Amino acid sequence: MQQFQQYIDGAFDDGSAQFHSIDPATGAAWASMPEAQAADVNRAVQAAETAFLGSEWAGMTATQCGKLLHRLADLVAENAPRLAELETRDTGKIIRETSAQIAYVAEYYRYYAGLADKIEGAHLPIDKPDMEVWLRREPIGVVAAVVPWNSQLFLSAVKIGPALAAGCTVVLKASEEGPAPMLEFARIFDQAGFPKGVLNVITGGPEAGATLTSHPKVVHVAFTGGPETARHIVRNSAENLASTSLELGGKSPFIVFDDADIDSAVNAQVSGIFAATGQSCVAGSRLVISNKIKDEFLTKLKAKAEAVVIGDPTDMATEVGPLCTLHQRDNALALIAASEKQGARVVTGGQPIAGDGFYFPPTIIDCSDAPQADCITNEFFGPVLSVLSFDTEEEALEIANNTTFGLASGVFTSSLTRAHRMIRGIRAGIVWVNTYRAVSPIAPFGGHGLSGHGREGGMQAALDYTKVKAVWLKTSDDPIPDPFVIR
Ligand code: NAD
Repeated sequence: MQQFQQYIDGAFDDGSAQFHSIDPATGAAWASMPEAQAADVNRAVQAAETAFLGSEWAGMTATQCGKLLHRLADLVAENAPRLAELETRDTGKIIRETSAQIAYVAEYYRYYAGLADKIEGAHLPIDKPDMEVWLRREPIGVVAAVVPWNSQLFLSAVKIGPALAAGCTVVLKASEEGPAPMLEFARIFDQAGFPKGVLNVITGGPEAGATLTSHPKVVHVAFTGGPETARHIVRNSAENLASTSLELGGKSPFIVFDDADIDSAVNAQVSGIFAATGQSCVAGSRLVISNKIKDEFLTKLKAKAEAVVIGDPTDMATEVGPLCTLHQRDNALALIAASEKQGARVVTGGQPIAGDGFYFPPTIIDCSDAPQADCITNEFFGPVLSVLSFDTEEEALEIANNTTFGLASGVFTSSLTRAHRMIRGIRAGIVWVNTYRAVSPIAPFGGHGLSGHGREGGMQAALDYTKVKAVWLKTSDDPIPDPFVIR
């Protein structure tokens, strides 16, 4: 059994309690993880605050901070194979995805390394002749970052990168499901040369999360996870009036018009829903398809879904691995059963694969006769695609926007004018046109409604970790007159 350690105040320890992490490909325990108790969380927050107030970090120039982030980016790139192996082992995300994604995570740190000394204040053309007024951009303080189990290295990079570039310090709580890659990341971070306490990495479940996000010294909670947990986070942070950024779930529409390149759209839909075994917040999980091409599209899609290579996530040939937890598998099964009762029809898949591990096949459900079925309204977080069809563009837009979520969307059409109308009409934080799932450190990422608020990625994310201080300086040498002398 492999042992992992938590990282607090620049040191590693086993913690006072441990739990076992499960390999989703076998269902067996494979590693022992420290489960952060209240004392550990408090120690981590205290270390982050001491580092934030200490002269070593606060006294560092932004350029020096950028150099450390560059060093971190290099280390992540060098260690990407090891990190990918651990993420695959601990979460079941297939190795071909973790390898590519983690190599790209290094680019997020590089982007924020470059941004560190470009976060500028401003000079104001104030309406008083003997005053200079300018704005300093200062770091907000101790940030709590809470991430889910899918793509933890990526989801933490979009928090740690901008927060450190802005001069904040961070306590990151890795998910209790599959924390190994984050605890290994802490070892890599430790080599980059940041002052101790600038980043602290702990793990544990809702209790550790609640202690962290309600801590009075935490000024901002950067959260990625489900909407129900987000409600707890907002309540936890309310006591201290800490700010929050919430990256939550989705039920993203994948809209295909009859003038689209069908083969290209089918390929994008396959990876849009079945990549990461569907455990992706931006999964294009609602196919909204023109009735004119529905049969042809579904025939091609079904053939591709049934040809997907399902198996050992550590094998480079595997295209769909296991779900991360047994709970995820049971949840998918329950939602499908409920939807069938409501009138939805399973086109392919729908039953878990027998044997060890939490395997579930690519599944397509036609909801033409059940447009309000659970599989249309609820996030599965599994390889399950729900299908609705339309006759007109107006209908397509209405179906796309008929959701409480608003994270991502895809539009496939060869009409430029229609593409523009759809871009304007869709209520979501991301619209991909004739493509899907493209991401970059340069582009902001986030949602509307139950998909949350705040944006990660891009320049704005770093500015969100700063606050503005207005400075007033009197430039005349005239003394301030006695205010009580009547003139
Ligand atoms: P989750 O909400 O159950 O857990 C997320 C994190 O919150 C975990 O670290 C967990 O320990 C912690 N947590 C749980 N209860 C808490 C509490 N009371 N206080 C503080 N922290 C608490 O999410 P999950 O099941 O791990 O992940 C799946 C969800 O994440 C899906 O809804 C998915 O769409 C969403 N997600 C969103 C994005 C995005 O960028 N928008 C990316 C990936 C995943």
